[in-house]
Amino acid sequence: MSRRGSIITLLMPALLACLCMACSPSDSQRSIQQQGALRVITRNGPTTYYEDRTGPAGFEYELARLFAMYLNVELQVTAVHSLKELFDALESNSADLAAAGLTMTAERQQHWYFSPAYLPIKQYVLYRNDQTRPRSVEDILNARITVLADSSHDEILAELSARYDELYWHSATDVETIDTLDMLSDGDIDFTLIDSNEYLANRAFYPNLHIGFEIGEPAELAWALNSDANNTELRIALQQFFQQIKQDGTLSRLQERHYSHSEQVNQSGSLTFSQAVDKRLPRYKDLIQQVATENGIDWRLLAAISYQESHWNPKARSPTGVRGMMMLTLPTAKEMGIKNRLNAEQSLRGGARYFNKILRRIPQRIKNPDRTWFALAAYNVGLGHVEDARKITAQQGANPDTWADVKKHLPLLRKRRWYKQTRYGYARGNEPVHYVQNIRHFYNVLNWNDLSKKRTPPPQKVDQYLPDILQAHNSAL
Ligand code: GLU
Repeated sequence: MSRRGSIITLLMPALLACLCMACSPSDSQRSIQQQGALRVITRNGPTTYYEDRTGPAGFEYELARLFAMYLNVELQVTAVHSLKELFDALESNSADLAAAGLTMTAERQQHWYFSPAYLPIKQYVLYRNDQTRPRSVEDILNARITVLADSSHDEILAELSARYDELYWHSATDVETIDTLDMLSDGDIDFTLIDSNEYLANRAFYPNLHIGFEIGEPAELAWALNSDANNTELRIALQQFFQQIKQDGTLSRLQERHYSHSEQVNQSGSLTFSQAVDKRLPRYKDLIQQVATENGIDWRLLAAISYQESHWNPKARSPTGVRGMMMLTLPTAKEMGIKNRLNAEQSLRGGARYFNKILRRIPQRIKNPDRTWFALAAYNVGLGHVEDARKITAQQGANPDTWADVKKHLPLLRKRRWYKQTRYGYARGNEPVHYVQNIRHFYNVLNWNDLSKKRTPPPQKVDQYLPDILQAHNSAL
């Protein structure tokens, strides 16, 4: 644990920036249009940039994509593993801008140029709910605190340490927010600092972590640029772009989509599975059976997948642009020969074909039922990420061909020390695990429903066997 440990590293980019001012003409001095591409440097993570089955995703990615479209150039995204690497890339002009959930801090503003702000945030001290809630800086003195090296949080603590001698913290390099959350959740540290947007994106996975108090001042996130004066054109374009997306509502829609989590809420707010089996399934059962037969899939499996995807709602829509009964992306629908994603039959057909396509790509030696679970996981998160998890599983000495082993390793794809060595990078690796688990559950219930219809009912009702005393108690319930 070090106190003020990161001050030097915090200043390094600034020192390098000064030295580099005198460098020879660099890429950033050519206009982005001449370059033909906007080179964005980012961090891999749930609030920034990652790949899911719809392709590249994340708030920063989408915002950068809009800006590249505005400039009418190609978007090139590079993800790095630490804030230091990020600023180094700006420094050496190997990126035009950094879009990485960066806080516009006073310290940074001295060395970097910032775009107009796009997200107001607060900064919180998090604690584990089996501990006493801290309410002020006095409550976190002499404790184990870890934050990301070179982060805005590092800066806040460094400032506070002038007033609090007993404020200690560790500035961790080579970790992501999710790693500090894990450390806190596992009891390895006592507190960490987090931005409110990251808290929103991660809190569902860490029910035992709560907000203690707000630390530092409310702040804003923005893109950082090399303060090299020769990128004036880019700065002007940024001013105009942000003015436009603020005025026409694009920015608020993007914030809403990423941070309100309406998708999850909408889905869990609708019918429960057994209600849906009674009320909604009868409307689609024939169709599901027909499409399942056409594609050689057990109809109950197709029913379970479509329930998990859309709650058997052919008009379902997700903020990421997937739609219909089987929640297909537009490119997948096209690839599967589907014209109208909102037509239940077409959507089921597209989904079934897509599922079969993935199933064929699972190595032959993996037999059912694991084969099916792997294909489902890939349907959810993408085959590349499943392959990455299988590699990690093998490295860890477990069996990459069994779902039971791979599902334990899939969630590691959320952690930087694991995903940094993979081909496809960060993934919300716990989601395919829940996804497969849910579908297996729905599938089992549907199987059981079918079996129970065929089985011979028990000869007598159970309560006829109950002694009188219990019988009375039973009817009183
Ligand atoms: N907003 C933070 C920063 O600018 C991001 C890093 C973090 O999540 O700690 O440093």
